[in-house]
Amino acid sequence: MMDKFREECGIFGIYGHTEAANLTYLGLYALQHRGQESVGIATSDGARLQIHKAMGYVADSFDEATFARLAGTSAIGHVRYSTAGESGLKNAQPILIDCAHGEIAIGHNGNLVNAQELRDALVREGSIFQTTSDTEVLLHLYARSKAPTPEEALVESISQAQGAFSLVLLTKDRLIAVRDPHGFRPLTLGRLGDAYVVCSETCALDLIDATWIRDIEPGEVFIAGPDGEKSIHPFPPARKAHCIFEHVYFARPDSYVFGKSVNEVRTELGRRLAAEQPADADVVVPVPDSGVCAAIGFAEASDLPLQMGLIRNHYVGRTFIEPHQSIRHFGVRVKLNPVKSILQGRRVILVDDSIVRGTTSRKIVKMVRAAGASEVHMRISCPPTISPCFYGVDTPQRSELIGATHSIDEIRRFIGADSLGYLSLDGMLSAVGNERRHYCTSCYTGEYPVAFPENQSAYLQLALKLVE
Ligand code: SF4
Repeated sequence: MMDKFREECGIFGIYGHTEAANLTYLGLYALQHRGQESVGIATSDGARLQIHKAMGYVADSFDEATFARLAGTSAIGHVRYSTAGESGLKNAQPILIDCAHGEIAIGHNGNLVNAQELRDALVREGSIFQTTSDTEVLLHLYARSKAPTPEEALVESISQAQGAFSLVLLTKDRLIAVRDPHGFRPLTLGRLGDAYVVCSETCALDLIDATWIRDIEPGEVFIAGPDGEKSIHPFPPARKAHCIFEHVYFARPDSYVFGKSVNEVRTELGRRLAAEQPADADVVVPVPDSGVCAAIGFAEASDLPLQMGLIRNHYVGRTFIEPHQSIRHFGVRVKLNPVKSILQGRRVILVDDSIVRGTTSRKIVKMVRAAGASEVHMRISCPPTISPCFYGVDTPQRSELIGATHSIDEIRRFIGADSLGYLSLDGMLSAVGNERRHYCTSCYTGEYPVAFPENQSAYLQLALKLVE
């Protein structure tokens, strides 16, 4: 319903704690914003692995009986919004297999750009796939490896993968965390007493009272086992390409990702946006929730009051029964409602984090005007999104991205705003400080650090313009 890029997965792993399954459940609960379609936890008691997967939210998917079955002192967990592979329980993760190297479960955040190529080669050689997910390819490569130890088989298999992968893996006696050499997606390490914890974002560490230690480095394979911890770096060095969209929109503001506070970066995006795209107005209003930090920065830098002129309903499920009778702006109003006392007669600056197709922004601007705003100035805390992502983020084809096919003034007219201003690429990168060279910005530039598959090139075709 909301017109956004969608993060596809959150991952969590713990080694050496008597309440491994329960803590994984809590970790996934904190990572729920990264995927709401399916959830799964795999545990090991040192001899056998157990697994439970379900469609839906974390809070609705586990009960006492499930936890009783998920015995053991190590666990991995996964929340998923589908990207590669269709949605459904068969594609839910972790995926658990038993092979010559023993049982192994895997949870993946990211997208392999050479998954189809690897899959075709495996199928030609007789592999039978159970899912349409690109993650299963890694397990087939692992199972077929002739390497003498599970660790070597793992390194051999993941060395063939290209693209974005932050992984958690569980064997009967080891927790393994892997991050691709570019470090596209986040993955961080913490400790809870003697236990090791790995997860997508630090907000999951906070909830279980674990201490943040460091990020898993790009290209690192981290292993926690009976002999303690060790790290290996089996990949050749590569240009770092952290997903800048984690800071712009995906990650929770109370998290640190890529070593930086999301709240700090997001607020700084707002400050820079105010400096680059000022507007003569009375009040700054965020589009909640993701626009809030940038709006705080914008209001601070422009010396204007910040007011919550749009209220979000946090309890909207994924499905609701629409009324037969037409209600104006229903689709967006079920999630956001304007506060007339704030908007009436005022010149409003609306701050949001992105415009993807433009359809939701158009409805929001209409709704704010209908609530009495005399002017609506839309400000976006990143540059126009002009190209799709091939690194594990669900984006529409290029033809559906309004920023790819329309000038800023055409977009302004389409959404019905009095003015529209985006943060520049340079402004966005300045907000992450000295590390700007280490970020992926492909969806803003169309320049890709890792080649994407040929069969995806249709994604890059442009389309005819929208009618206003
Ligand atoms: S293309 Fe965009 S969304 Fe995808 S990894 Fe790069 S910055 Fe993130």
